[in-house]
Amino acid sequence: MRSPSRQEALEILTRGVDVLVVGGGITGAGVALDAASRGYRVGLVERRDFASGTSSRSTRLVHGGVRYLPQGHLGLVREALRERQLLLRLAPHVVRPLGFLIPLYRGTRRPLGMRLPRWLAPLAPVGVGVGLWAYDLFSRDPRLRHRRLSVKEVHDLVPDLRTEGLRAAFLYWDGQTDDVRLTRAVLSTARALGACTVNYVEVVGFERVGGRIRAVGVVDRLTGRTAEVPVRWVVNATGIWAERVAALAGEPPVRIRHSKGVHLVLRPHVVRASAALVIPETDDGRLAFLVPWEGRLVLGTTDEPYGGDLDEPPVTRADADYLLDHANRYLGVPLRAEDVTAVYAGIRPLVSRPAGSTAALSRDHVVVASEGGLVTVTGGKLTTYRRMAEDTVNAIARMEGRPRSCRTHGLPLAGASGLEEARTQLERSPFEPDQRAHLLAAYGGAATEVVAIMEESPELAARLAPGLPHLAAEVAYACRRQYAVTLADCLYLHTRLAVLDSAAADLAAPHIAELMARELSWTPQEVDRQLRHYRELRARQDSWRGKSGQTQEQEARRAPAV
Ligand SMILES: Cc1cc2nc3c(=O)[nH]c(=O)nc-3n(C[C@H](O)[C@H](O)[C@H](O)COP(=O)(O)OP(=O)(O)OC[C@H]3O[C@@H](n4cnc5c(N)ncnc54)[C@H](O)[C@@H]3O)c2cc1C
Repeated sequence: MRSPSRQEALEILTRGVDVLVVGGGITGAGVALDAASRGYRVGLVERRDFASGTSSRSTRLVHGGVRYLPQGHLGLVREALRERQLLLRLAPHVVRPLGFLIPLYRGTRRPLGMRLPRWLAPLAPVGVGVGLWAYDLFSRDPRLRHRRLSVKEVHDLVPDLRTEGLRAAFLYWDGQTDDVRLTRAVLSTARALGACTVNYVEVVGFERVGGRIRAVGVVDRLTGRTAEVPVRWVVNATGIWAERVAALAGEPPVRIRHSKGVHLVLRPHVVRASAALVIPETDDGRLAFLVPWEGRLVLGTTDEPYGGDLDEPPVTRADADYLLDHANRYLGVPLRAEDVTAVYAGIRPLVSRPAGSTAALSRDHVVVASEGGLVTVTGGKLTTYRRMAEDTVNAIARMEGRPRSCRTHGLPLAGASGLEEARTQLERSPFEPDQRAHLLAAYGGAATEVVAIMEESPELAARLAPGLPHLAAEVAYACRRQYAVTLADCLYLHTRLAVLDSAAADLAAPHIAELMARELSWTPQEVDRQLRHYRELRARQDSWRGKSGQTQEQEARRAPAV
């Protein structure tokens, strides 16, 4: 069945829906899917591209969160592990198991954030072993049990890890995903069940009759046109913007605090590692990760209170130095700023408690429902999106007095079906091994649709950048099937080139702009405008290489949202 165009989808919305979801990150996508699968007429609006907020800026782990074990958040860990197991089954094309190595050294004061008195420090490996045993118990997956490693095994897994002073090491398992592709898979599944989703549409007002919200005012940010969407329920799934949207509706929800997390993407092979590495201790009492991703390594993250621009949070030199310094304490090969090929920063929406650091705030979610018809869902994490959505739609069903039960724990995500057929087709194809692996990992069963586009012309079968597996056909697929409407979105969110290797993305940008121009009928002036906008974003992304962190953060507070 043909998907409606953006304009058609917006028109369908103006006829009215039962549930209008505001926000097209993983939380909003999950709510749209859950509500559509229970038979509601569902609309979703997103003020930029889908997954452009925090849902494209995570560490991309589908995990229980080993660091919550020493904090005693066992319920949170158990729930997240249950969701991890579900996703490994329902979305095997976007969520895959990944091994994590935890090294424990003599002299470590707070391993994994545990606060141990000095006399108990020698027992840290026992504590970590017990924690990982509980992790295995909660996940109930015999394939993914942790084990203790010998020094030789450590060396084989991560040859560049320092082993002098190593007291013990463990290998445990969690899930890895691509946050944007996971969000898109959830959105595609919701669309297949009838949900109508539109990007670049912002909610700007609420209309009430007798205290109840009856319609939502929206503006199409591409054309400037305004419209009204008649609604019965509105779900505020706008993450770090949730307070603003609730204020528009005149209903302040729970208070949210913002915490910035930065990641550095490192060039291939700069550290030899066939498992992810846990950086077991940071100066602010947390842990960090060095994770293999798409042939690169992602190093992150920081966790600091943040009060600047929410749309494009900056990476500062201080953020980058913090991460490189911490990794270098454990690696035999020094990482340098020149090894960084891309950077990104995201903001966590943390449900506020009066005092304490943001690192100590709960990653739990809250659902606040009002009699007026607004349900705000916030907090949580990528991993628990399905559960957050279930709680949200349960709240609506309860208020309606017509309980309809949740179905998403048995619903495979788009791309999961046809995975084996796509694998077989790709194995018989003339593509290089890196291209086959990339197409399967990025599109699952839908890889065959990308292949069909490649067959239209040799130009569409060409690589976008030397040494990277991404293909020109993916740009056409993004425009035709995934509602890509800007060059920057195509580079950051669809192909992911700009968060993998920004120099390669810069070189490919003019060609990608031409490919998009053909799909979207852009004029030469529009191509120029799109290139200018992308270059402005890139200049901001790269500014960490130049100035001191403090100055950049102050500048970002003054800069208008992009
Ligand atoms: C550094 C970092 C690392 C993380 N790592 C992990 C991890 O490894 N694993 C994990 O499980 N979780 C992780 N998380 C948490 C996870 O990324 C977030 O919990 C999740 O992405 C939040 O999704 P969301 O949909 O609630 O918010 P968002 O993705 O921000 O979506 C909200 C959307 O609402 C839209 N919006 C705002 N206002 C309006 C309006 N008026 N009209 C229409 N749309 C609007 C925004 O444009 C935005 O796209 C991490 C978070 C950070 C910051």
